[in-house]
Amino acid sequence: MVMGATHAMSGAAVGLAVADLLPTDWGGPTSTAETFAFAGVCAGAALLPDLDTTQSTVARSYGPISRMLASGIGALSRGVYRVTKGRKDANRRGSHRTFTHTALFAVGLGAMTSALVVQFGRPAIIITLFVTLGLALRGLFGDWARDKGWLVVTVVSAFLSILAWQWFPDKVGSTGLGVAVALGCAVHCLGDMITKEGVPFLAPFVQIRGERWWELKLPSLLAIRAGGGFERAILGPFLTFVAVMLAVLAVDGAPAAITDALRNAVSADLTTGQN
Ligand SMILES: [Zn+2]
Repeated sequence: MVMGATHAMSGAAVGLAVADLLPTDWGGPTSTAETFAFAGVCAGAALLPDLDTTQSTVARSYGPISRMLASGIGALSRGVYRVTKGRKDANRRGSHRTFTHTALFAVGLGAMTSALVVQFGRPAIIITLFVTLGLALRGLFGDWARDKGWLVVTVVSAFLSILAWQWFPDKVGSTGLGVAVALGCAVHCLGDMITKEGVPFLAPFVQIRGERWWELKLPSLLAIRAGGGFERAILGPFLTFVAVMLAVLAVDGAPAAITDALRNAVSADLTTGQN
């Protein structure tokens, strides 16, 4: 299992990058605050697919409630697998890395989120923000979250979601929440895909060699060991660096300010050169 922190950080980085590209008709953010909320939701949603096992960070994040939810989702995933499996798919007992690690789940959960937001407006927005931003906090700042305990983390999540909620002024912007959720789930699958186990991302629609739950993965030479040295020493810090850079650039006016500063530095250099 790839570490929760890596999933959350890659969700944040991809969320920040996509927020900039997403058309406003699709709920693309129109302000710095909305961009950060979008990336936060994406970071939190990047932990959701591991709700199919009670062993994951996400299953332990809201105590008995999330553990119960995880065993429910595990049972649902086992059911989906059993009903849809192809003739060559193995009989498996566990549910981890099945239904919640597919494009179907990512798109389905995203569409459901958008539909709820359109139907119920603010209550649906605030619940989505509360759950996903709470997960993002636990993923991105795991040490802090463990240190402070669930009560403090929950209070901070509630506070953050109320703040972020005010940044979502209308329903158009809010449908972007569904996009952020789907994106986060897909990023999670990509992250798992680079580890040795692989992910049945296209299941159950595409049948490969008689298997509907064929696992997509990198060739073993390129695959990394989940939670291993490469992830800790290189991938994690690299993702953090990218996310921080993108976060700085996402601040309104920051790119222009940076170019201006560079231009000034260069022209100052030229002037000193002339003297
Ligand atoms: Zn996973």
